[in-house]
Amino acid sequence: MNANLLQTPIAYLKGVGPNRADTLRSELGIATYQDLLNLFPNRYIDKTRYYKITELQRSNADVQIVGKIINIKTVEQKKGKRLVATFLDETGKMELVWFRGQKWIRENLKLNIPYVIFGRCNWFNGAFSMPHPEMELLTEHQQGVKVHMQPVYPSTEKLGNKGITNRVISKLIQQLFAETNGRFSESLSPTHLQELKLLPKHEAMFNIHFPKSSELLTKAQFRLKFEELFYIQMQLITKKLLRKQKIKGYNFDLVGTLFNDFYANYLPFELTGAQKRVIKEIRADLGSNAQMNRLLQGDVGSGKTIVAVMIMLLAIDNGFQACLMAPTEILANQHYQGIQELLKKTGIQCALLTGSVKQSARRPIHENLENGRLQILIGTHALLEDKVQFKNLGLAIVDEQHRFGVAQRSKLWHKNEIPPHVLVMTATPIPRTLAMSLYGDLDISVIDELPPGRKPIKTVHRFDSNRLKVFRFIRDEIKKGRQIYVVYPLIQESEALDYKDLMDGYESIARDFPAPDFQISIVHGKMKPADKDYEMERFVKGETHIMVATTVIEVGVNIPNASVMIIESAERFGLSQLHQLRGRVGRGADQSFCILMTSYKLSAEAKTRLETMVATNDGFEIAEVDLRLRGPGDIMGTQQSGILNMKIADLVKDNDILQTARHYAIKILKEDPSLERPENLIVRHVYAQLTKHKNIWNYIS
Ligand code: ADP
Ligand code: MG
Repeated sequence: MNANLLQTPIAYLKGVGPNRADTLRSELGIATYQDLLNLFPNRYIDKTRYYKITELQRSNADVQIVGKIINIKTVEQKKGKRLVATFLDETGKMELVWFRGQKWIRENLKLNIPYVIFGRCNWFNGAFSMPHPEMELLTEHQQGVKVHMQPVYPSTEKLGNKGITNRVISKLIQQLFAETNGRFSESLSPTHLQELKLLPKHEAMFNIHFPKSSELLTKAQFRLKFEELFYIQMQLITKKLLRKQKIKGYNFDLVGTLFNDFYANYLPFELTGAQKRVIKEIRADLGSNAQMNRLLQGDVGSGKTIVAVMIMLLAIDNGFQACLMAPTEILANQHYQGIQELLKKTGIQCALLTGSVKQSARRPIHENLENGRLQILIGTHALLEDKVQFKNLGLAIVDEQHRFGVAQRSKLWHKNEIPPHVLVMTATPIPRTLAMSLYGDLDISVIDELPPGRKPIKTVHRFDSNRLKVFRFIRDEIKKGRQIYVVYPLIQESEALDYKDLMDGYESIARDFPAPDFQISIVHGKMKPADKDYEMERFVKGETHIMVATTVIEVGVNIPNASVMIIESAERFGLSQLHQLRGRVGRGADQSFCILMTSYKLSAEAKTRLETMVATNDGFEIAEVDLRLRGPGDIMGTQQSGILNMKIADLVKDNDILQTARHYAIKILKEDPSLERPENLIVRHVYAQLTKHKNIWNYIS
């Protein structure tokens, strides 16, 4: 297709004009012929069937009927008036009703002439009626392009009010095909078409708007989804390749004594298969001359720390320093202690740097970092201060990434001339589909296996009315020597109320679990950090039995003796947050429990969330449900990514097509990186256009 023709302003299309053009632009973002062509239907309705009025059922959604209007009248009602027409076929009669645009309809409707009407039937006062039917004269209907599946286009209230109905849009697209002859130029390579048996572009375009059959519609959808996903992947993969070429990294080609010695003698347990695989993936990165920028995903408790330790050993083996940054002091402390313990026989020098480390203690740390005597530095964002200078930082590990902004992460890079390798560890599982689209330019490793012998956490849902039973259960667990978390929601908008809930809850627990037999800690956002840490420490040391808290404890605290997690008002938490919270227990040898407390009033979505939590402990499964419930736009971090504004493909439903598209994108870039082969000319051309425009579909015709 002549690209210029498709760039024609939409106002020039016959049937549009300046007024409709304005509305199309403001409501649907349609400015050109091209934009209209790429307005893909949301769904399709079976138009092969014509109903008789006596056949109508109350459960019919959309129906199509042939008949005549025999009279039309205006009916006054409390608020404004409505226009009512009596519609007749040879079997019976029904009413057609309009609330808007009555004048135009009155003037234009013809009496006693056969129409085909289409719309949703209502059962009202013992008769069927159809509000705002789509209407077409039978004669025009017979001449028009025969559609078996009627497309339903995206619409808005304003479009409806301005008379730009679904049928009008469909007509405009028909007009567009007529003016352009429907010969849109191909945008995929012959190889694609052949190997995947794809419809050619123009056929796909025709069938997406005017499906000749449901088979052809399916094929058209497949082709267009593939095309969209393929070019997104082309962009992401190219970006990644460019980054790898541009950003040189240190080569860790030595697997030296420290690593081997530790592996052979000091590993406290056998690594899981997933841990081994991930270490291998990271090692391959570190020996590739390019800077590593890798995301390590692993559910809570999957054993990310030991992976971090082994990789740090690799850095030290190659003569570099390493650092590990955690989001809170408590976590940094825990990492420091755990890692000291693991490395105690290796002679590696390791230090802790957090906000509460005194100035006097900092000086030697700074010095030893600069002269290289310190090999590992663990801490909070205090590591990012300008005073902290390394002799040769080769590896930076960031735990629980979502607490750190991208800016903070990139600050780590600038500690050296050549940026250190960066490994970001997260316990927030990102569904594979999303990860691939969002972080297509980041490498991802996944630990998808828990260490052996873990007892799955038992999760139950209880209503507030069962609180006494729950308290009894808590008492029994405390008698067995266990510790308990009770967590309350804290949401910014209703902070005062939430705070009251927390305090009320605390008081009622304090009444039921009196001192001196029971000791209770409380931690919330209004406390001073020092007080928070003090209370947290008491719980960590086992001095208190119950920890009443807001979600501050969400992030990776490890207290193996805590075996019960009670989540109050659980219906108010999102799935990933519930899963994170639950991950605080189940870290020891004992059976752990998670109790989700709610009132009886639950939305359907809240029910699904609770049921999912009760049904599975698998973070990835939970993330997939979360994605289905909330859509990609609401999943953390996706808002910034324009990539998700897809026109036809759906990240959740079209995962298979995404995999295929990714496979083809990788293949083509591997075999012909600069797209010079004749069979790749089309892709090259389209891709070049694509990098000039923002919206992928702006050029793909
Ligand atoms: P997370 O991925 O949540 O950071 P951790 O690294 O804290 O998990 O590990 C959780 C617990 O599992 C720790 O007590 C750790 O010692 C233990 N662990 C890790 N890997 C293994 C393994 N392969 N076998 C047995 N226990 C392991
Ligand atoms: Mg951790």
